[in-house]
Amino acid sequence: MKIAHEKVVSIHYTLTNREGSVLDSSSGNDPLAYLHGFGNIIPGLENALEGKEAGEKLSVTVEPEQGYGARDEQLVQAVPRSAFKGVEELAPGMQFQAQGPQGTRLVVVTQVAEDVVTVDANHPLAGQTLHFEVEVSEVRDATSVELEHGHVHGPGGHHHH
Ligand code: ZN
Repeated sequence: MKIAHEKVVSIHYTLTNREGSVLDSSSGNDPLAYLHGFGNIIPGLENALEGKEAGEKLSVTVEPEQGYGARDEQLVQAVPRSAFKGVEELAPGMQFQAQGPQGTRLVVVTQVAEDVVTVDANHPLAGQTLHFEVEVSEVRDATSVELEHGHVHGPGGHHHH
């Protein structure tokens, strides 16, 4: 069965950056399962998988425009230290959920001064060229419920509580 719109695809993958550092990998875990054609994964990877079959291996290089987008320097903001009530110690690299106009987003602390904390709301992989080594482990038809929800259920997919 070939990967096409509305198929459930399971993949093993290793993600490295331009320097070759491993950023993420499914190795040692269940393969990642996603619903093809529903934007569950970044466009550059989804497009490269179109038409592939179980057992196929591929190397995919994804530029930021087809990945997590370019960095937006406007998403780097200085906020008063008082916005972090209840947080005893702040250090670069710490992550927080912030409420914004588009809902909740993850921000990373990049700088800590006495009264001002600099946070970055860009996706950590924004602006990066990404390299994926992918092996397709399974391709199957989606169930009607999966299509209705727009995501995969079961191992490697979505779990409802
Ligand atoms: Zn669901």
